[in-house]
Amino acid sequence: MSDIVNPVPAALSYGQGALDRASDRRQNAEWIRDLLHSRSSRFLPNWRYRHAVREHDEGPRAVIMEQPSAVDLLSESSLTIFLGLNESSAIFALDLEADDESELADRIEGQFLDLRRVGPSLAADEASVLAYARGMIYWHRHHGFCGRCGRPTTLEHGGHLRRCSSADCGKETFPRTDPAVIMLVEHVPEDDGPRRCLLGRGPKWPAGTFSTLAGFVEPGESLEQAVAREVLEEAGVAVDQITYRGSQPWPFPSSLMLGFRARSRATELRLDPDELADAGWFTAQELSAFGEWGDRDAQLKLPRRDSIARFLVDQWIAEQG
Ligand SMILES: [Zn+2]
Repeated sequence: MSDIVNPVPAALSYGQGALDRASDRRQNAEWIRDLLHSRSSRFLPNWRYRHAVREHDEGPRAVIMEQPSAVDLLSESSLTIFLGLNESSAIFALDLEADDESELADRIEGQFLDLRRVGPSLAADEASVLAYARGMIYWHRHHGFCGRCGRPTTLEHGGHLRRCSSADCGKETFPRTDPAVIMLVEHVPEDDGPRRCLLGRGPKWPAGTFSTLAGFVEPGESLEQAVAREVLEEAGVAVDQITYRGSQPWPFPSSLMLGFRARSRATELRLDPDELADAGWFTAQELSAFGEWGDRDAQLKLPRRDSIARFLVDQWIAEQG
């Protein structure tokens, strides 16, 4: 039995995985090799950052292949990554490079879909494991060469380390994720009027879609400093009372979203047009009239259901009573 207890709120997608990553055993190449040949092991085929998915009556499910039927794909896989152990099996991701998608789709009796498209329809644990696989594959594909000497790197530790092939160098590189802050800024009026929150729309977003502000953390910066800097840069608003609310892996392509609440004393906005095409302050009542992300009929839309932005907005609306 897995002893992994997930402390992430159930409303946060992609962070609900319950695999035991076996970080104390996966550096043992012999152990990994035995698992690859074990009939109890399971394999998740991937093709060009898309995951193998099969439609069922109750909705889409990830294709999880049993070891005997995955032997051919295993031999063709350009990357085989140990993800972890569930209650009875080792789970591996396979990265396939076949030219012919339809032939590959026939072999897995499913189709290859982008997680951004299928994620909100999958069970939380499956979406989380696919997000993990996607993040790992992206990291491997972008670390094929040593950052110090430029020579090729090779995979070790079941895919949780790449080592420079030069004996003189031998630099080890571990999988990375890029921290990004995302924050719901609220304004609390001096009088008894309703609180409002700041939402904005990026220049390339679909019309009417609004979300919380966000940005990458820079070197030498705390998370709280990053929150304050991003809100000031993008919207011209100074914030304080910055509190942590939760986190979410966001492998599109390689982020870890760190969610915050912050408070603004002022409401006047000065938008950076490179970052925001529009922004405004909204009451909970106004937000309750917003439609769903992707709904063509809705004039104003909330962030995607699978995003931490939506989690922050929903949490804030619920608190307003
Ligand atoms: Zn090197």
